[in-house]
Amino acid sequence: MSNLPYRGRFAPSPTGPLHFGSLVTALASFLEARSQGGQWLIRIEDLDPLREPPEATGQILASLEAHGLFPDEPVRFQSRRHDAYQAAIDQLLDGGWAYRCQCSRKELQAHQGRHPNQCRNRKGMSDDRPYAIRFALEDEDCHWQDLLLGLQHQTVTAEVDDPVMLRKEGFYAYQLAVVVDDIDQGITDVVRGSDLLEMTAQQQQIFRALDARVPRWLHIPVILNDQGQKLSKQTHAPAIDNELPVQNLFRALSALGQKPPPALQSGSVESLLEWGQRNWRRDAIHLTSQ
Ligand SMILES: [Zn+2]
Repeated sequence: MSNLPYRGRFAPSPTGPLHFGSLVTALASFLEARSQGGQWLIRIEDLDPLREPPEATGQILASLEAHGLFPDEPVRFQSRRHDAYQAAIDQLLDGGWAYRCQCSRKELQAHQGRHPNQCRNRKGMSDDRPYAIRFALEDEDCHWQDLLLGLQHQTVTAEVDDPVMLRKEGFYAYQLAVVVDDIDQGITDVVRGSDLLEMTAQQQQIFRALDARVPRWLHIPVILNDQGQKLSKQTHAPAIDNELPVQNLFRALSALGQKPPPALQSGSVESLLEWGQRNWRRDAIHLTSQ
């Protein structure tokens, strides 16, 4: 991994406009890449049109641009990558890494997450009910180093934790698409919110099943609102104000434990980002605000 040139990315799902929490994540991944002379990409994870208002993608990209966060390559859209996801599913099915599952949530709950329909044994479909495709995890005590949180230990339970790759509704799932695109884009380093930490061990198995090297991970604390909830569309996080990029970036740097000189509050977006890049200290990120 260390001999590959650094490639990082910011990969939002367009469920709403960019809010302060996602700006912090975008900025952290940008500065982590830039401070190492690396490349930084933007990927829109638009896999679920039912949850994504059509205007959200444009709003997110406009906000990133207003805050000087320009990618090194054209923005990638997962909605245009269905052929690649289908090819990966075929590869996983062929290799015995995935199976068709007709179980309902209710059935799985009633059997403590085990599959009563023998789908995991690949006995074929019992009827013409719609099916999902799931990844067949292996039992594993997974240890890995997070670049911020240090040594991590996660237990993966085969069958019970098997993530969906293709949903019954026909949508490709996050767990598949994120891995396929990180591989395809040559991502060496993933900087993301710690709300995604628990998926990391599962994703490592998907990387390996697709014959790819796993990237490094750095999970940053999730930004909370006054009620202690994660900033998100569900908690009604307000959209970032594109008219105040310097103030927003200054606040985002501070939320990441960086200490930009107060004079930069009256400077430009460029001068603030340049300061951030030159003075980026990963170890200053506050772990306590998680
Ligand atoms: Zn099943």
